[in-house]
Amino acid sequence: MKVGLVSDPIYLKHDTGQHVENARRLVAITSHLEQTGIVRQLTPIKPRPATIEELSLVHGEPYIANIQQMAERGGGWLDADTVMSAESYEAALYAAGGVIKASEAVLNGEVSSAFALVRPPGHHATPQRAMGFCLFNNVAIAAKYALAEFSLERILIIDFDVHHGNGTQDAFYDNPQVLYISTHLSPFYPGTGIIEETGSGSARGATLNIPLPSGCGDSEYQQVFEQIVVPAATRFQPRLILVSAGYDAHRDDELAMMQVSITGFARMVKIIKELADKLCSGRLVFSLEGGYNLAALAASVKATFDVLLGNTEIEDPLGQSSRRFAAPDITPLLAAIREIHGLT
Ligand SMILES: [Zn+2]
Repeated sequence: MKVGLVSDPIYLKHDTGQHVENARRLVAITSHLEQTGIVRQLTPIKPRPATIEELSLVHGEPYIANIQQMAERGGGWLDADTVMSAESYEAALYAAGGVIKASEAVLNGEVSSAFALVRPPGHHATPQRAMGFCLFNNVAIAAKYALAEFSLERILIIDFDVHHGNGTQDAFYDNPQVLYISTHLSPFYPGTGIIEETGSGSARGATLNIPLPSGCGDSEYQQVFEQIVVPAATRFQPRLILVSAGYDAHRDDELAMMQVSITGFARMVKIIKELADKLCSGRLVFSLEGGYNLAALAASVKATFDVLLGNTEIEDPLGQSSRRFAAPDITPLLAAIREIHGLT
């Protein structure tokens, strides 16, 4: 069982200075993968830059040109949260291309599954706009690419980043070939992702939002996965599963108010892997989104690789510290979502 790793120094060149989404995130992950030795169990996949044509599967050409020109001028702020440097355009091309390469490797059978450790992240980038630290929507581009190049009928995107992936939702809102399932803190940035947003036209039902109250931890996420994600994915019968893997729902992450542990992330990944094994010959591609506590991020990514490799021992160096928030009762919420989506 080969597990692919997309990693490249180009992703460090997206220089955001003191911004919370910075190159130290990837340095922390890669040094942890090296120190623990797990990197030797992984199959390296070399990324390439996405082409303009590939970016255009999701983004408008004037928008792409705007990002390129901004880089040529040395970078700057695209909105109040999103900054780029002179080399960010190239890094962003490789981020989208990295997820494409990971998907190709999985679909060609070179590896069973893969994780693209890329930045800038992608799930907030809409077809026409950079936002939320994201320039191009890496996962959406890879999904469109896989639909077109591999003639896949259906792709499932699972987004467990603590923020709603509004850009991914926008990219597929009227596309019945892609089921987009997002778990996210709500109300929270970017403000989208209510349960009534379910897709439009023939794609009604192909957007599945699970907006969660603050304080959700391992047991709430497990409930969500068992009661919503598993039956919805099983009904959809995807040919490939892409994951927007953000680890900012971790209890030690300062950006949000969730309480997931490293063990909890590993459990979610295990459920996703079992879905892929059952539904689509194990075809599974992870792409890094958020996660801002460096120790939690590095150990969570390592735990993700452990699950993909079939390693049974999961290290949780940060453990189950005492809850900072009371655990909410999400039973009525999950019942409402099951009702809307006809999941009995
Ligand atoms: Zn996030």
